[in-house]
Amino acid sequence: MSYDADLNFVFAHTPKLTFGANVVAELGTSLSEMGHSRAVVVTDKFLAEKTDMLERVKKSLAGRFAGAFTDVIPDPTADSIDLGAAYAKRQSADVLISLGGGSAIDTAKGMAVVLTEGGKILDHEGYHALTRPQTPHVAIPTTAGTGSEMTMVLVVKDPARGQKTFIGSYFLHPDLAVLDPTLTVGLPAKLTAATGMDAMSHAIESLLSNLRNPFSDGYSLEAIRIISTNLKRCLDKPDDLLARGQMLIAAAIAGSAFSNAMVVLNHALAHTVGAKYHIHHGTANAMFLPHTMRFFTDVSADRLALVAGALGISTSGITDEQAALQAADRIEEFNKEIGLTDRLSDYGVTEADLPAIADMALTDGSIIYSPKPVFDLDEIASVARKAL
Ligand code: NAD
Repeated sequence: MSYDADLNFVFAHTPKLTFGANVVAELGTSLSEMGHSRAVVVTDKFLAEKTDMLERVKKSLAGRFAGAFTDVIPDPTADSIDLGAAYAKRQSADVLISLGGGSAIDTAKGMAVVLTEGGKILDHEGYHALTRPQTPHVAIPTTAGTGSEMTMVLVVKDPARGQKTFIGSYFLHPDLAVLDPTLTVGLPAKLTAATGMDAMSHAIESLLSNLRNPFSDGYSLEAIRIISTNLKRCLDKPDDLLARGQMLIAAAIAGSAFSNAMVVLNHALAHTVGAKYHIHHGTANAMFLPHTMRFFTDVSADRLALVAGALGISTSGITDEQAALQAADRIEEFNKEIGLTDRLSDYGVTEADLPAIADMALTDGSIIYSPKPVFDLDEIASVARKAL
């Protein structure tokens, strides 16, 4: 894969991560090394009340535990983040510990901003507007998908616009990511599959992005390889710590890749149907991914041929275009193997809704990084139509 002579890029991610079964027990030691003494945990009611995760975190924090905000909601809204920040302020938090999927991690990122900068989270919308370090944040993912523990982005839903919007800043990288596979063994099959395909989309889309660079490409290809060999194993044997750990690693690697190279049309569509029809983010990405790959084959066959190789397809003796199409077919088949057969129509979407979906996807920040200009509403609708 070639790069232009004028290649220039920045590559940044969360400064430190710890990985291993039960590393969450070392959280207290990490906080003492970091010099923090009042930790507010950011999680949701289910994880707090129906699992032992919050208790394990509290045990490790011991006297540093200053409270738990347990009102994280899936696809956090601006209001839910503002409420969390008010709670952490009352508890005089000097560090936030997110415990959960992308929704908990993004809620904590937003809370960190409001605690430091004041105002409401939507006052800080946009890219690179923050100018100083934010409230310290330790991210503990309990899904292996979003990679938010490694990214400079937070996704927040603005109910007034009915759309997801973004805040991006190098000051949003968590200070520490704790990857503990014992926390993902209880993830139900559907969520395991959907969050795994979110990571797969990050990896494939960042390879397609016109902001890709040699670091993100290397990360993406390794993530694709790991996911294609380990996601199904997590479904076949949910307590397979080796496979669960590999998926956490792949999600983090893919998170770093897309945080630097960005994502493309596929995510623009997924954000749109996530906000409009409450379709889980990973499920939505999986639905569109093979169609997005085919849509970009005319301009990105060389990159998609590398995807094919990382997926284990033998590419010798075939053209890049043939390999690219085989990669898309393989992703479609993989979705079926892991039980992700959802279609837009399962969520009530009809042909009549496609123009509005295309219109909203066009205003999503991700679309501009696509490897060819995507301005035509009919073209966007044509990709979405394949997932009806
Ligand atoms: P999620 O965080 O919304 O969680 C979904 C459900 O899974 C919740 O009900 C939660 O309680 C449950 N859950 C989480 N871990 C579990 C476990 N170990 N066992 C049982 N149940 C568990 O889902 P997600 O896919 O991780 O995150 C999606 C959100 O992340 C979306 O809002 C998306 O926009 C955002 N996102 C952010 C980034 C970023 O870089 N900031 C990247 C991708 C996605």
